[in-house]
Amino acid sequence: MGGNEISFVNKAFETNWIAPLGPNVSGFESDLATYLSSAGEPCHVAALSSGTAALHLALILLGVKQGDEVICQSMTFSASANPIVYQGALPVFIDSEPETWNLCPIALEAAIKDRIKKGKKPKAIIAVHLYGMPYQVDEVTRIANYYEIPIIEDSAEALGSTYKGKKCGTFGTISILSFNGNKIITTSGGGALVSKNKSHTDKAVFLATQARDQAPHYQHSEIGYNYRMSNICAGIGRGQMQVLDSHVQRRRQNHFFYKQLFDKTNGVCIFNESNEHYYSNHWLSCVLIEPKKTNGITRETLRLALEKENIESRPLWKPMHLQPVFVNSPFYGGEIAETLFEYGLCLPSASNLTSEDLNRVQDVIFSVFN
Ligand SMILES: *Cc1c(COP(=O)(O)O)cnc(C)c1O
Repeated sequence: MGGNEISFVNKAFETNWIAPLGPNVSGFESDLATYLSSAGEPCHVAALSSGTAALHLALILLGVKQGDEVICQSMTFSASANPIVYQGALPVFIDSEPETWNLCPIALEAAIKDRIKKGKKPKAIIAVHLYGMPYQVDEVTRIANYYEIPIIEDSAEALGSTYKGKKCGTFGTISILSFNGNKIITTSGGGALVSKNKSHTDKAVFLATQARDQAPHYQHSEIGYNYRMSNICAGIGRGQMQVLDSHVQRRRQNHFFYKQLFDKTNGVCIFNESNEHYYSNHWLSCVLIEPKKTNGITRETLRLALEKENIESRPLWKPMHLQPVFVNSPFYGGEIAETLFEYGLCLPSASNLTSEDLNRVQDVIFSVFN
């Protein structure tokens, strides 16, 4: 927490706005819209109960229904894919490319062609900025536009990242953010749906508040959801917006600390921006450890050594096409995502790590690699 969150929460108590609406909700939405909007291109924001809820509503807004197919990056957190199944649709998973670890444009295009040939054009593409690293925005957008398939940009991990100077969270037909406890800023739990099209956010708010028609009584013509953000959580969000930039700077400093640490270590490769178009918030600092080049040291060797010192680290997301729950989903691509999972480790990356904390991590890393 930055400090000012509590004053926004206190304000909610003082004014008795203890509900999933109120001044903090509209204030947080406008803070986010101001942050994301660039000259001439205003963004609209609907604050919701989670990033997962935002993805679910995005699919509904794009008309995804029972029996439809939706393309999704395989290398991601399960929340990117689960809402496809909530809609009774089929996820079609796509491999990563090695530069950004995100959607491989070649596999993406092959999948679209093949699904069309098999009789169903995918209704949407869920593209993820993994660990804050922007996906190949130009290339993925070009393919999506060519086949006229909307992109749902999963920017849950990438608030504060940019591609060619433009903020992540503004590239999709619809974009989503998450403010879960582990994200770059948090409202304890929460999310947002972002669009340049105000009818999207208006409809999202309507669906998120039980789809009440305009009438003095309770009247419903559509199935609704209870997905709105609470005015208490939004108060935390307003305070967090004041520290977003400093959180990004601190996460990036963690990244540069590890980058320097592993600079001369054979077989260890830090997850880096591939060129100046990419600016990652480095939500998590990640490394790939190739045992063939490290005399047999694996990501598990390092993870267990850290665990012994009571320091948590974690393998990368296990790709969705390798998850038992998605065995019946098609997959397009090769073994990039699978190899990333095999070699990859997320290192301690919190925004409040002290230099003492980082030195403890460094000691373990030295003991493993020297
Ligand atoms: C966290 C996360 C989500 C889900 O957000 P919640 O707010 O936890 O529901 C979706 N996609 C990705 C890539 C995430 O990391």
